[in-house]
Amino acid sequence: MFAKFITPPLEPEKLPKNLSLESTLKDLAVFNVQVQHSCIAKDVSRLFQSHPLLPGVILTVNGEFLGMISRRRFMERMSRPYGVDIFACRPIVALYQIAKTDILILPGVALIVMAAQRAVQRQPEQLYEPIVVQLEPQVYRLLDVHQVLVALSQIHQQATWYISELYYNLSVTQSELEAANSQLTAANLELHRLANSDGLTQVANRRCFNEYLEEKWQNLGEEAAEISLILCDIDFFKKYNDTYGHQAGDACLQQVAKTIVEAVKFSAGEVLRETLVARYGGEEFAVILPRTSSEMAVTIAEQIRVRVKKLEIKNIKSPNSGCVTLSLGVSSTVPQLEISQKDLIEAADRSLYEAKDGGRDRVILGKI
Ligand code: GH3
Ligand code: MG
Ligand code: MG
Repeated sequence: MFAKFITPPLEPEKLPKNLSLESTLKDLAVFNVQVQHSCIAKDVSRLFQSHPLLPGVILTVNGEFLGMISRRRFMERMSRPYGVDIFACRPIVALYQIAKTDILILPGVALIVMAAQRAVQRQPEQLYEPIVVQLEPQVYRLLDVHQVLVALSQIHQQATWYISELYYNLSVTQSELEAANSQLTAANLELHRLANSDGLTQVANRRCFNEYLEEKWQNLGEEAAEISLILCDIDFFKKYNDTYGHQAGDACLQQVAKTIVEAVKFSAGEVLRETLVARYGGEEFAVILPRTSSEMAVTIAEQIRVRVKKLEIKNIKSPNSGCVTLSLGVSSTVPQLEISQKDLIEAADRSLYEAKDGGRDRVILGKI
């Protein structure tokens, strides 16, 4: 009877569940099957026949571990010529002595991934030999190498899924970051625009005008290049407000600003990129024209004057033709140490007053 040689049979203990990279051999299904070395080979043969999944048996001597013989080796020996005759009725240890090979013994705490690596690094003829798992001193179990590989693939799948999750989360975070970043950039641009533009007319505000003129004055001074300035003032705008109301006045300011921008775009040519239109004060606008001669600046100023007049915005109380017109003062210079941008502004301002004095709706070029 082989039952007395075997403790306790014979389904694998435990079924593997959620395995991870940290799982160990203890987490796998192991066979608990020990056979005393004196057990007759015929009985072991019956054992294998009645338990087709059993990968091998552990041999013991007085309960102590002796070794292991796999089903494959056992069957192979038995199926050789005279194998049955030689071994069937002898103690299994006789067959074991002849058929034995190196046994891979690993502790129960060994990582599955490591065990799989060790198992497949064996010699080809040993590749499918079961692994002996030592759970505790003198406590041995058998592990089918096929199960280790299945477990490995499960772990691999799990790890791949985990990594793809990680990637997904990372990419979500990444795209969220990018979105937040572009929102921030947009918000910053908007903030910059708000800080630098005039709320009513959307052209640059006075602050921006000051900073830009300062910057250009420095740069063009170093380059010894010309800079021109146009100051535009709406004629009889108080009368316009009085006649049509403040809101209509606002709308008129918007229209005039838009027209100045268009006129500059039309005539500034190459220097357009550097040109700045700003609201200088209530109904006054300024145009900074870097690298622009006085003649060119006068031409541009004239364009502005004509275009605004052509809008034919009624200002019936204006003694000038009954519509909205502009007076424009132009000044031009090459920035030098002895003069400042203030002089440029004052010269344009003086010209503007000359234009007013001279009957409005005109362009006057002044000298610094
Ligand atoms: P001049 O031809 O000499 O320039 O006469 P003017 O009436 O245009 O000049 P004045 O300086 O006497 O009046 C400017 C007017 O511009 C007075 C003010 O109410 C108006 N104004 C200034 N800023 C705004 C604004 O933002 N909206 C409106 N609707 N009117 C404004
Ligand atoms: Mg004014
Ligand atoms: Mg005015």
